Amino acid sequence: METFIFKGNDVVIPAEGWALHSIEAISTGEVPQVGKWLEIDGERSLPDGWRTVPRRTLWEVMGERTFAVANRLYAEMDWRTNSRFCGRCGSPMEDMEDRGRRCPSCGNTSYPVISPAVIVAVEKEGKLLLGHNRAFPGKRYSVLAGFVDLGESLEDTVKREIKEEVGIKVCDVEYFGSQSWPFPRSLMVGFRAKWLEGEIEVDGVEIDHADWFAPENLPEIPGSVSISRRLIDDFIARWS
Ligand SMILES: [Zn+2]
Repeated sequence: METFIFKGNDVVIPAEGWALHSIEAISTGEVPQVGKWLEIDGERSLPDGWRTVPRRTLWEVMGERTFAVANRLYAEMDWRTNSRFCGRCGSPMEDMEDRGRRCPSCGNTSYPVISPAVIVAVEKEGKLLLGHNRAFPGKRYSVLAGFVDLGESLEDTVKREIKEEVGIKVCDVEYFGSQSWPFPRSLMVGFRAKWLEGEIEVDGVEIDHADWFAPENLPEIPGSVSISRRLIDDFIARWS
């Protein structure tokens, strides 16, 4: 099984000939059939010749499969860190046989939590709605996304998020595909939707600019093989 070394939000690439036992890990673990991890202190400096790659850009540097395996292991490690103590009474949690954790004092159990989010390609007369999120690098634009709230269906979330972020109403919400997105522990569920009514009016909080773009006139868009890019490519394929 492959072993990954994590340091903060980075994956560590050791120099040739490195030895596992030489690493002082603050946590270790494994996911059966997937791989093992070692976590080293984020403040520690690395030996000569070692380098780090941010988990987000692992896709570009080492390919889709490595990105998926590393992030699967990271998600497990992250969950274990966040479930050390019982959220109800504060006692240390114990491992159960089925990979969950249980509190020996009050019986509370804990399993990995995934936060679903929707990502939506809204179309209007052959144009695609793209927004610039304040958190995006530079002038990059993308399809809009948001987390599912308690009590919502995915379709509810699509309608609410688009209304909140750019002030328009959408209809014909149609499932497109999904992607595990480990930043920090999400499942992105992609949809296509159609403009129904309203003019674009950005919220100014998350989105500072949004507009309708024709396929031949797109701004800078995500470069990686993320579901946002797949939604945009799907739009281009159908309208150009
Ligand atoms: Zn407890």
